[in-house]
Amino acid sequence: MKILVINSGSSSLKYRLIEMTDESVLAKGVADRIGIGNSFLKHSGKKDVIIEKDMPTHETAIKMVLEALTDPDHGVIASADEIAGVGHRSVASGENFTKSTLIDAEARKELENIIELAPLHMPACIMGIDACMEVMPNVPHVCVFDTSFHNTMPDVAKLYGIDYEDYKTLKVRRYGAHGTSHNYISEITAEIIGKKDFNLVVCHLGNGASLSAVKNGKCMDTTMGFTPLEGLIMGTRSGDIDPSVVQFLCQKKGWDVSKAINYLNKQCGVKGISGVSSDFRDLIAAAEEGNARAQLAIDMFSYRVKKYVGAYAAVMDGVDAIVFTAGIGEHTPEVRERVLSGLTYLGVDFDNELNYNCKIKDYVELSTPNSKVKVFIMPTDEEVVIARETKLVANFND
Ligand code: ADP
Repeated sequence: MKILVINSGSSSLKYRLIEMTDESVLAKGVADRIGIGNSFLKHSGKKDVIIEKDMPTHETAIKMVLEALTDPDHGVIASADEIAGVGHRSVASGENFTKSTLIDAEARKELENIIELAPLHMPACIMGIDACMEVMPNVPHVCVFDTSFHNTMPDVAKLYGIDYEDYKTLKVRRYGAHGTSHNYISEITAEIIGKKDFNLVVCHLGNGASLSAVKNGKCMDTTMGFTPLEGLIMGTRSGDIDPSVVQFLCQKKGWDVSKAINYLNKQCGVKGISGVSSDFRDLIAAAEEGNARAQLAIDMFSYRVKKYVGAYAAVMDGVDAIVFTAGIGEHTPEVRERVLSGLTYLGVDFDNELNYNCKIKDYVELSTPNSKVKVFIMPTDEEVVIARETKLVANFND
């Protein structure tokens, strides 16, 4: 059985076709620059190809994707009928979607209600869903939410210190994000350790970055909040900040609030601090050449991660395992070294030579046999979680 996973952005549509019998990736790619001109499809299937073609809408994009998947030269299936179901990623969920959901008329209507909670992300997600349902009306479409894994957070972690009535009526609370990744990493770590009852800190460090505290397989806390702006310092996002800064910036720069929020999302983080780049490869190279602001950005990023590791050890009464994943977590030893150094009070002992010289296949264990805390580097796989959830919700039997 084959499941198509779709991750739809405002001007892009990423896809992956997964064979569920062995969870192998048959094809993947991205339709890029949708609706903004010079659009192209980058596809890896039987062959890697880049196809330049006008894609004014998400519907034209998904049609292009299906053409690529069924193309005799670079496609991987004979007909679109081989696709049994489609899984859609949604960043936000609101309070009413607590788990992955089949998109029927009622669910589709409810998705509209989330737009105001996540105006940056939801319109694109809905556009992708509508386009795919229009082009593939006869298969189940399932929405998988980035927030679901965090639903187990207790109120003490989930609520903000604001008027409780505002939480009740306006649903303003911490929702978290990257839940599919935190879920995947928790399950794989439990398999490696051979039990479920342990305290885990998952460090998902990519362009967007978040930590979660996972106790006995359940999320207890996470760094992202009402939106993915809260928590760690990220590629271009500020992370935690005093909200009064928004008012001050607006006054001083003559901005309105949405301009300030856009600035905190897109112009800040390590990009803003370094003035060099949001990409850690550029930051490491610049720091090695003596760029002090690039070094500061790396240090600040790592400091914030370490601070939350300590916070989560406190709320869980200790930590048994720490896992690094996503682009920076997997590929930037300089960050891992800074986070792990000085965690001796927790009992962390790690092999720093291995940290700088490891090749990751399934996972690498960085902790030494003396360490009280297991430390792993592990690739994440959000798409496979979405495909598994789609299979489960659509009630497919192999
Ligand atoms: P996202 O999916 O949130 O866009 P990724 O998980 O791809 O982010 O992570 C992007 C970050 O990971 C960038 O800062 C990039 O520099 C870093 N990264 C990715 N691959 C490598 C690599 N091979 N070496 C060093 N850093 C890498």
